Amino acid sequence: MKNIAILCSGGDVSGMNAALKRFVEYTLAKGLRPYFVYNGFEGLIDNEIVEAGYGDVSGIITRGGTKIRSARSQRFHEKHYRQKAIENLLSHHIHAVVVLGGDGSFKGMKRLSEESDIAFSGIPATIDNDIAGTEYALGVDTALNVIKYAIDAVRDTAASFSRAFVIETMGRECGYLALVSALTSGAEMCLIPELPYDLEHYKRRFLREKEEGRTYFIAVVSEALDNTEMIRQWFETEIGMEARTTILGHIQRGGNPTVHDRMMAFHFVTQAIDGLLGGKKESVVCYRDGGFDYLPIDDVAFRTYRLPESLLRLGKEFNTLSRV
Ligand code: ATP
Repeated sequence: MKNIAILCSGGDVSGMNAALKRFVEYTLAKGLRPYFVYNGFEGLIDNEIVEAGYGDVSGIITRGGTKIRSARSQRFHEKHYRQKAIENLLSHHIHAVVVLGGDGSFKGMKRLSEESDIAFSGIPATIDNDIAGTEYALGVDTALNVIKYAIDAVRDTAASFSRAFVIETMGRECGYLALVSALTSGAEMCLIPELPYDLEHYKRRFLREKEEGRTYFIAVVSEALDNTEMIRQWFETEIGMEARTTILGHIQRGGNPTVHDRMMAFHFVTQAIDGLLGGKKESVVCYRDGGFDYLPIDDVAFRTYRLPESLLRLGKEFNTLSRV
């Protein structure tokens, strides 16, 4: 194995550029020749495969997103396009590929691995933190910090203007971002798909707090519930407080990567390359119990992520908190 490539697939996250920097520096240190695949699987099909060097990664560590761009590819679901992707990789004598992405990307990677002798190593990268087998996916810490700044700022205005704010976070079907953000920003309400909640309980508590002098509330709700506007109206009709919504949207995906994401990018890439050099044909680098591990793609891409029990317990406590 001499030539090795890296690509980003699915939603981009902050920390991908740090991963690219480590990829180039570590592969060169190991005597390998690094290649970038631009535009994810689309770029594999279209042969956007370019040798990379130190100059390509200078000054990118501070930037969110990914210098080599990411993409979703409808064509990649079709075998003849995947065959084209394999031919393109082999035309550059590339026999190993690192893929940064989510479970969809790993499913695509699995297909390519079954249809060729090329080795693949996946690195979990999604702000949703919803990938089975790993406690951490690249980009999550930066997203949490973006949300933290946003909620802190909203709190300033909510407190000054006696309003309730309903803040909607991303995460698709997973409530991780909403729950961690609610806990760490001191929100009064947190609604996520993994936990049942009782609006009557919240109502009793909030009315009592209002009587005691509370002038604002912060609610964090997961986009999965699709009830942000309904909760805003609930604050107005049931709690009797003017309410606004803030939908954070894609700002959660960007921004200057945190120190944690930069370090995790370095570790993930190092593990991925070491795994490939050690002969792993298809695996995903997972972070759990404070260390890194390799899981077969099947155990990651085709399993459902569950929030850790310890976090769910905190969420249950939060949802049933009662001062009444
Ligand atoms: P995110 O968390 O941002 O959604 P993801 O990797 O899960 O990241 P997807 O859009 O699900 O994002 O998948 C990325 C790409 O992987 C798809 O556009 C497609 O090209 C490829 N892919 C997904 N599933 C398959 C599959 N079953 N077979 C072949 N390719 C697939």
